[in-house]
Amino acid sequence: MSTQKSLSVWKQLKQQRITCDQALELLVNRQGMVNLQLLDAEVSIRFQRSFNDKGGVPPVVPLLLWRNCYYLGSPVVLSPELVQQLGDRLNTEVQIIPIAEKSYHYWNRLKDKSIARLNGTHAIHAFTGDAESEDITEIAELHLSQVDSQIERIRTLISSALRNRASDIHLAPSAEGLAVRFRIDGILRHVTTLPPDISRKVIVSLKVMSDMDIADSRRPQDGRISEKYVADQQEQGLDLRVSTLPCISGIKGEPSEKAVLRLLRQQNSFTTIAGLGFSPRTRAIYEGWLREPQGMIIFTGPTGSGKTSTLYTSLQAIATESVNIVTVEDPVEYVLPGITQTQVHEAAGMTFAAGLRAILRQDPDIIMVGEVRDNETAETAVRAALTGHLVLTTLHTNDAIGVIPRLKDIGPDPGLVSDALLGIVAQRLVRRVCPHCTEPYTPTAADLKLLGLRMEEANPQGWRKGRGCPQCFNSGYLGREAVIELLNVDDTVRHIIYEGTVTQLRRYLHESQFDSFQVGAIAKVTSGITTVEEVRRVLPHSAFYRKPTADVPSTVPNNSTAPSKLLNLVQHSAG
Ligand SMILES: [Zn+2]
Repeated sequence: MSTQKSLSVWKQLKQQRITCDQALELLVNRQGMVNLQLLDAEVSIRFQRSFNDKGGVPPVVPLLLWRNCYYLGSPVVLSPELVQQLGDRLNTEVQIIPIAEKSYHYWNRLKDKSIARLNGTHAIHAFTGDAESEDITEIAELHLSQVDSQIERIRTLISSALRNRASDIHLAPSAEGLAVRFRIDGILRHVTTLPPDISRKVIVSLKVMSDMDIADSRRPQDGRISEKYVADQQEQGLDLRVSTLPCISGIKGEPSEKAVLRLLRQQNSFTTIAGLGFSPRTRAIYEGWLREPQGMIIFTGPTGSGKTSTLYTSLQAIATESVNIVTVEDPVEYVLPGITQTQVHEAAGMTFAAGLRAILRQDPDIIMVGEVRDNETAETAVRAALTGHLVLTTLHTNDAIGVIPRLKDIGPDPGLVSDALLGIVAQRLVRRVCPHCTEPYTPTAADLKLLGLRMEEANPQGWRKGRGCPQCFNSGYLGREAVIELLNVDDTVRHIIYEGTVTQLRRYLHESQFDSFQVGAIAKVTSGITTVEEVRRVLPHSAFYRKPTADVPSTVPNNSTAPSKLLNLVQHSAG
């Protein structure tokens, strides 16, 4: 990719450095691709002036104007009448040069693009009128080739990330240059590599944009950029959380910096509870908890499991004028209307515990505590949940059952915990099968074994898999939703939390209708929402072993005490 714009072919022709035939050879290669960087703006402007406000221009790219003849590239065969009309309007001769359809789309896409505003809108296909899918690397490089400054370069990358539903942009220095990757549906994808001579400049510009100290490249830094962008013909808010990390660049081991930009869209980030991934049964139970006047709901899962989305979507669903919702978070990731959000600030003494105490003096109805990490926060949250408040919070555990021992470790009175707890939501995000390239898939014996299903239970005609297409970057998946494990705290569970063991809890759940990860995974795979590979990739290992397969009857009698098989399973899943 050249960073300097070359002299246009038209100017070279005017200076008689080349012939008209040579000019056309330079502009259009054998495959019919137009070298857009060599086109001349003036040729284009003069052409467009003749068609101002008149519309109905056939698909042509103005290539050259030479000796009163317009050389126009077109991907279609134009009728002699149409060529005549073009000549009449331009008041010149017209010569049509065949070009590739793809090349015309690229030109069309670039012609009215202004990088002054970030653009998250997909280009419209000139012939079909559909939103065009883009080859992420090709389009990013095409746009990048049109810009001159580092800030334009960064804005171009942000626009591309928005259009491709990316959640993060990674900029990593290497010997080849600055590697650019986007995280899309949880997976990192290489987009392009910026040349080594501008790598450092791009990082420095990014630090300027996010108010970081550019003189200091030895410490990690954090910053924010607030932007507006255009999507669906509307201006929308965008926050970028930027972080840098000093690292070794790969160029003779020189010190360098890696940057990661997290894109936080202010609108349309959250769906409704119905769109999160609950089954009809788990959703009914979950919405029942949200209607309770008091009690505690715990969300669990690793970073990136989507628990924040579920939490925020739920808060949005219950935020009405008649309730006071207050949160204490670290950090506040999204600003939610109708909700008072506070931010933890350890240095200023605003800890989770201090924030929670302050919130309780503010007459709240619903409280969201970002995370329970210490005894005081846990104790205060549990007491709040027992005294007329609905408390929502998160923990980091592998699955829903794992919350119980974790909570006991943190130390609030198990009696109070068991009284306060309404239920636990554990979740992971699975990618959905791409709707554009989905096709039927016949489950194999190994697939059925993994899910613990017999063929007659597996609804084999419902299974789907994506073949891979441009819309899904050939991955076969597009978008994500949660697989949810729901632990409903009924009287028996309450009793077990108070004076029982995890083994007893597992045994009880195994015998009752527990909405485990396995149950959730089976529902999504057998209805074609996602695939076996995907649930195996994201769900904890333990999710697939707990329940014996349906055709092997359980050897564990219901009344036996801690059978060794169950113990083994417990030990396995705890590891
Ligand atoms: Zn696809």
